[in-house]
Order: sequence, then structure tokens, then C-alpha cells
Amino acid sequence: MKIFPTQIETYLNCPRKYHFGRDPELRKKYFKSSPHLVLGNAVHDALQYFFDITKVKIPDRTYETLCNLLRDAWGGRGLFARNSWKQKRAREEAFGDDRETEKAWGQKGLNILYRFFNTQDISAVPLTAEQFHELRLTDGVILGGKVDRIDRLEDGSLVVIDYKTGKPPRQKDQEEIAEKDLQLAAYALLVARKFRGKVSRCSYLYLNDELEVGYEPDDDLLSRKEAQLTEICTRIVKAWDDDDFPATPNPLCGWCDFREICSEGQEYQKQRDAAVGAQSDLPF
Ligand code: SF4
Repeated sequence: MKIFPTQIETYLNCPRKYHFGRDPELRKKYFKSSPHLVLGNAVHDALQYFFDITKVKIPDRTYETLCNLLRDAWGGRGLFARNSWKQKRAREEAFGDDRETEKAWGQKGLNILYRFFNTQDISAVPLTAEQFHELRLTDGVILGGKVDRIDRLEDGSLVVIDYKTGKPPRQKDQEEIAEKDLQLAAYALLVARKFRGKVSRCSYLYLNDELEVGYEPDDDLLSRKEAQLTEICTRIVKAWDDDDFPATPNPLCGWCDFREICSEGQEYQKQRDAAVGAQSDLPF
């Protein structure tokens, strides 16, 4: 079984949601794109090609090139023409025929790239960008993940970067993030094993806020994270054997694609909405 870091996070949040998300039919029926997804995917795609010297030569790395890559990725055209049908559907789901809203989100993407272009090292040549990496965690379980970007520093060590287009966490304490985080640790583990090198830093780069949040994963931390990931993946395998995926209603139910088919999530959200409504303080 192949398990991705994002699936691990989903499982820990709600096993039922993880289970629903693994069913292709349910995914097809209930999973809907959103403005934020369209934006996030287009920004990732644009940055991937921008740093790929087989697609864009270093002297051609201008802000205009980056904007055009975003537009092409967004519209599924040019270098991204193979995605045209996928993008058409995603845009329809996210924006319908509301061109003004789509324009506002597209502008948000251009603004993100403007900040990126003016604050980051544009001449960098990453070791890999948006590539899948895999690691056999335990018997029958492969940990897989797409790593946004891996840079190799002059001292030979590796830096793992995960781009984020959403809001940064309130908590930015490096030690606490290192303790709680699993996603970055999973990427760092994949990279350290695959390239047999030292990962000197792994971080989330919050593009909208020009903020880098991360930590330096030493061998001891990576070993602890590997044990933790292995334990969770073993639990997931057992859950499949036992067909045991309980619903665990939580504040994210409001955004869950599968709430329509989840009575527990519906009940939780109903109570939550009622509580919020009862507390609303009107100024008139
Ligand atoms: S609605 Fe809530 S409880 Fe139901 S599957 Fe989604 S996250 Fe889980």
C-alpha cells in the first residue's frame, strides 16, 4: 500500500474522510475544485516550470515569464496544454461563469508571484521540483510524496521546500513545529533516504506572506519521525483489514467534501452552526 503524507494528516484528522477519499467513485462524485485549489495548483505548476532549465533558460527568468506560466497553467494551455480538460473542469467547479471572481483570484496569483520574484533567489537551480519520491517504510507500506522543491547547498546538504499559498499557522515556534509536524518530516525522510544525504533544513514557504517556517531535522529527529510515521501507517493498514474508519467530527467538517454522505459530520456542523448563531452579537 502506498500512503502519502497528506493522507496521513487526513487519517489523523478523520479516518472516515480518509476512507471516502480513497474511493475513486466517491472522489469523482463529491470532490469539488475551489478557487483556492485552482490558485494553488497554478502557482505550483508555474514555479515548477520556471525553475526547470529545460523549459525556461536562466536569462529568460523574468517576472513576465512567470506571469505567463501562471496564466498558461491556469488555462491549461501552452506548456500545460495536456491539462486543458482537467483545468477546464476545475475552473468551472471553482468559478462557474463568474469571470470577475476568477479575475480576482488570478490577480491574487500574480501578486503572490510578484512577491516571490522580488524576494527569492531567482537564479537557483533546484535539484528537483514537484517530483515524486518513495520510501519503503515497513513491509507492504510505501511512503510516497511529491516534494515541491529540493535544493542542494554548496556544502552538499539538501534543503526541502514546500510551497504554501494558504495562511501561515499562528504558531511559528521552530521547536514546536518540529515536534508536531509530520508532513515536512515525511518529505525530509524521503529526500534523505533517496539522495543518501543530509537534509539541513525543511520548511514551508508561505508565498502570500513571504514567510519561511521550518526546522533543521537532525538524525535523531528523523529517526523519531520515521518511527511515528511507521506506527501510523501500520494503524492505517490494520484499519483496512478491519474495515474500521470511524467518523471523527471536527471543525474541518464545514469544509469536508463528503459531508453530504456523512451523518455524523452533518449533525456536528448543525450544532456548531446553531452555537455560533446563538452567540452572534448584533450591533443593532
Ligand atoms: S464530515 Fe466530518 S466527520 Fe464526516 S467524513 Fe468529513 S471530516 Fe469526517
